[in-house]
Amino acid sequence: MAVTTGREYGLFIGGELVEPSSGEVRELVEPATGEPLVRAAMAGEEDVDRAVAAARAALAGPWGKTPANERSRLLHALADAIAANRKELAELESRNVGKAITSVKAELANGVEYFRYYASAIASIAGRSHPVGGSLLFYSLKEPVGVCGQIVPWNYPAMMTTWKLAPALAAGCTVVLKPDPATPLTALRMAELAAEVGFPAGVVNVVAGDGPTTGSYLVRHPGVDKVAFTGSTKTGSEIMRLCSEPIKRLTLELGGKSPNLVFADANLDDAIPSSVWSIYYSAGQSCEARSRVLVERSVYDQFVERFAEAAGRLKVGDPLDPETQVGSLISAAHRDRVHGYVVQGREEGAEIVLGGEPGDGKGAFYLPTVLARVENRMVVAQEEIFGPVVTVIPFEDERDGIRIANDVRYGLFATVWTGDPARGHRLARAIKAGQIGINMPYSAFPGIPFGGYKQSGFGRELGIETLDLYLETKSVLTATGPKPFNPWQL
Ligand code: NAD
Repeated sequence: MAVTTGREYGLFIGGELVEPSSGEVRELVEPATGEPLVRAAMAGEEDVDRAVAAARAALAGPWGKTPANERSRLLHALADAIAANRKELAELESRNVGKAITSVKAELANGVEYFRYYASAIASIAGRSHPVGGSLLFYSLKEPVGVCGQIVPWNYPAMMTTWKLAPALAAGCTVVLKPDPATPLTALRMAELAAEVGFPAGVVNVVAGDGPTTGSYLVRHPGVDKVAFTGSTKTGSEIMRLCSEPIKRLTLELGGKSPNLVFADANLDDAIPSSVWSIYYSAGQSCEARSRVLVERSVYDQFVERFAEAAGRLKVGDPLDPETQVGSLISAAHRDRVHGYVVQGREEGAEIVLGGEPGDGKGAFYLPTVLARVENRMVVAQEEIFGPVVTVIPFEDERDGIRIANDVRYGLFATVWTGDPARGHRLARAIKAGQIGINMPYSAFPGIPFGGYKQSGFGRELGIETLDLYLETKSVLTATGPKPFNPWQL
């Protein structure tokens, strides 16, 4: 099915697309063309109430008793449905976000694998059991946390939806997912697919809406037991505050300013194209974008020249063209924000070696940009620019490289390029980040925990550990003898 321009998307509550009680329907614009795309309903407080009520009812109903093998079957069925509808989903996402369609296809393929991974990982949800003090037996029950309010950003709407839904559903929770108001389309379509393959009504609900109003209301809602948030560190901090009074379970996947260290002994033929990919993929709008490239001084000039040459060859343009590598940014306003950082970097003393200006056409394009002679204290090296802008910083030796890598408030990801395997492992221990790549740039794999140190958040996604974040552990002690002990003698 092709994307129908002008179509109206509702909210997904209780197993169907519904009109918003808020009455608000917003026209979404295609970032790459500036033209209207579709109209999408925005949820207000009453809609969140309806969605949470549907999720609570589903938890109390048959879903709460659905055994693990049946949940596994449903997750596989949803994976199959996403795979079968990947062409439609890819076009929807590409047009809604402005992202290159080849990237979106890869993200959807990963999304399918996340559902399959958690469909299998369900088998690991098991308690423990052992005797205690002679005549007592202990066993533990793993129970779903309950209704989960999941909030996702605009940069990977489809993939973030899969990251959030798969472990929650595997654990037996129900979900009210709030996408960014600009990018709700693939999440809505996946919720429809979930209903079509047999997830009971109310298990998956999707309510787009503004963060400070609808999102905040969802977080504070007394019917929500756990919040899982992906977005900026600033919003994460506010959500943590909102969760503190009612002591809600919370996981936060936040921002990053990830280092990519290139040592003089690295194979630059590998390091350069991979470093280009790891910043310009998704037009730099990735939490784990390696936006600080740290290069050992002796190869710095050579690296900058070759990196800029490779970045200058990237094909920027129509996201639907399969040859495109860098699509548009999410909006003209965001492009202007990105450009503001570049101007600030130049004023702080950085040299613009490549780009530094918007791309051609009406869309929100920005050219791949290289800022050289950057010092780590500069704003462009400390703040998340979230666009196709790399800062290249020289370092003197291993110690200096580690110091600069860690001298930032974030700790999401780091990549190390070196010909010395022992050095790679030394750095893996020394760098404060949730994930380290040694001579490889990739980040997200099913089963490999993904998440942050420091202000990049807490909790992990994609791993077996993630299931525990959607489960409570209940300890049961039972007497196995007629009179196990005298309480007064303890
Ligand atoms: P954002 O924090 O502005 O918004 C993220 C989501 O939160 C949106 O759905 C938004 O509507 C909602 N929101 C905003 N204010 C809210 C509030 N007060 N209460 C409840 N919800 C609220 O972030 P963004 O600019 O949309 O996304 C980009 C950010 O996300 C970047 O910082 C990026 O690094 C981060 N990100 C992190 C990961 C990760 O896994 N660590 C992945 C992707 C993106």
